[in-house]
This record gives sequence, C-alpha cells and structure tokens, in this order.
Amino acid sequence: MRPRDLSDHVEYRAGRGIEEVARELGRDPEEFVKLASNENMFGPSPAAVETIEASASEVHHYPTADQQDLTAALAEAWDVASEQVWLANGGDGALDYLSRAALEPGDAVLVPDPGFAYYGMSARFHHGEVREYDVSPGDDGGFALTAERVLDAYDGERIVYLTSPHNPSGGRFTLDAIEAIADGTREETLVVVDEAYGEFTEAPSALELLRDRADVDGSHPAASHAPRDDVAVLRTFSKAYGLAGLRLGYALVPEAWGDAYARVNTPFATSFIACRAGLAALDDVAHVEQTVETARWSREYMAEHLNAPTYESHANFLLVEVGDASAVAEAMQERGVIVRDCSSFGLPGCVRITCGTEAETERAVRELNEVLAE
Ligand code: PMP
Repeated sequence: MRPRDLSDHVEYRAGRGIEEVARELGRDPEEFVKLASNENMFGPSPAAVETIEASASEVHHYPTADQQDLTAALAEAWDVASEQVWLANGGDGALDYLSRAALEPGDAVLVPDPGFAYYGMSARFHHGEVREYDVSPGDDGGFALTAERVLDAYDGERIVYLTSPHNPSGGRFTLDAIEAIADGTREETLVVVDEAYGEFTEAPSALELLRDRADVDGSHPAASHAPRDDVAVLRTFSKAYGLAGLRLGYALVPEAWGDAYARVNTPFATSFIACRAGLAALDDVAHVEQTVETARWSREYMAEHLNAPTYESHANFLLVEVGDASAVAEAMQERGVIVRDCSSFGLPGCVRITCGTEAETERAVRELNEVLAE
C-alpha cells in the first residue's frame, strides 16, 4: 500500500528558524534576528507564559472544559453564539475545517495570487480544485484587493478566499468590497475572510457582516442588513497574541453553520495548554495593544527610512521592492537579519520584513540600505 498520488501537491515550507540558520552558517544564534514569519516582536504575553507553566502538571487531562471556556470567551468578545466559534489547531486548522464543511469532491476554491499557500493546499487535501484571482498591482501601484478582480475571475467556486490584511502585500479589502463579493457570488459560495493580521488594522472586521447591522447612514436597503450566511472570518493567536508555537486559531462562521463543527473537527481541536494560554492572552489587552502600536511604528519607520519602494501595509510586516530578492535575502542573512524572500509567492523582486522591536527595526533598515547600496 502506498500513499495516494500527491505529486502535484505543493509542499508547505515553513520559514527557517534562527537555530537552523545559525547552525548552517556555523555562527552563534545570538547574532541573528528573525523578521521572516510575522511573529510577535515581544514574544508571548507574560500572563500566557505564567499560565502555561502553571498548567504543565495538568496535561494528563483532555481539554474539554478549557475548550468550552475559551470558546465562550471568544463568543462573548465577538458577540456571537458559541456554536459560531470553531476553535482549531492554528488558523491553518480552521481552514481545514472550513474545507471539510464546504467542499464536495471536485469543488473548486478561488484564491489570491500572490497569496497564502495553505488555502490551495487545504482544498486539495479535501479533493478540491484551486483557481486563482490576480491581485498584482494595478495602475495606482498598489496591490489590487478589489471586488472587481475577484468577481472577474469568479466562476462559481465553492469557497472564495479574501486575505485582509493581505499576506504578503499588507493591503486590505474594504468592507464594501467584501460585501460586493458576497453579493456577487452564488448562494452556495462561502466567502472566507482571512483576518490573521486583523488586529493590526483599524478597519472593522468582516464579522460585521455576520451580525444584524444598524443602517448607520441610511444608504443601504434594509434587506442587506440581515446577518449573512455566506461569509466566515478566520482569526489566529499566532500573530498579535504571540502564540504561534501553540497552534491556536479559529473560524467565526454563520449561524446556520454552527452545528457542522461537531462533524468536521478532530476530537480535540487544540491542546489543553493552548486553550488555557489563549484565555490568558485574550485578557492581556495591554500586550496586544503594545504589539499593535509597535508594529504601526515599525512599518512607518521602515517605509520612511528604507531606500527602496514599499507597499502600504496594514499588517505587522512590510513588502519591499529590492530587485533580486533571493540575493538580497541571502545578504541580509549573512548580516544576521533573516527576512522573507518572496520568490516563493511569485514575487522575485520583493522581500517581506516583519515589524520588529525598535532596535530590530532600526537594524533591519540599516542593513538593508547597506545591502542595496553595495
Ligand atoms: N493566514 C495567513 C494570511 C497567514 O499568513 C497565516 C500564517 N502565516 C495563517 C493564515 C495561519 O496562521 P496560523 O496557522 O499560525 O494561525
């Protein structure tokens, strides 16, 4: 017996960690800073760390009650029913649950190009097909995260993925564009708005579309204000909450989807420690605020001081035009700053730099300007 033929599947390649890079170059890990995976520059919330340590002696328990507590806390925070919160092993796990719940064999999904690779991978795991819509820069020079680009490419796919803020560009869809996309797709299509970087933007969450909405300025017909049943939102604790290593994320789904969760999730969607730490991290509002503020400062500082064109970002990273991305990323790595070569996104001229602390950001700018001047 052999595994099914997966030869046409994309292999997920996680960014390399400091230890791995240092070992390969025969250098001291202390010399490096990693600004390649959009992780939290301050690390996890100290409250989460304390909870993790305190919970260690209880890991023989299954996470049942803790999972319910976290689900209830998230439901309260978002003002939705508990059934609408689908906890998972990272945002990636939540994408798998949505694929399982939505896709019949042969169904297609529509994903952004360039974009996050796991949308397509998850679809394929679930016997789906992958089609792309192009978001590469339009006439105004910015990435085209517009209803027009999505709907022009749309051909009845079962899931349409919108990333907002978008990885790797940092751009975003407006709520009006998301609504226009949901309106412009058939009833059987689910629009998944991936807000993995949602904390870093001031724009409202697409969750608004799952609620009864007041007609604030009277400009919309009343009918468009019923909670939508064709939009889901993806969120994660990996970025602003600094818990990437714990693997904790969730989808917020329409009311009518609530009872599908029990039929698609793994028996324990995430770990006991992740549930406990997630609750502590949710409570540590100051840590998230400091992270978000520092990210805003960092991306503005980089955009202002880098001697290279950058794209407007609403996330905790900045996309920079550098010419030969592979060569520049390698030169940066030599200098101890690990950035993301975006060739794998189909952007061989760009690197993506994660927002770091003040010292890390200044170092990244200094080194990149020197590399570009060489
Ligand atoms: N969506 C996007 C756009 C991402 O960049 C990532 C992480 N790189 C994820 C989802 C998933 O993150 P996680 O599984 O760590 O929650």
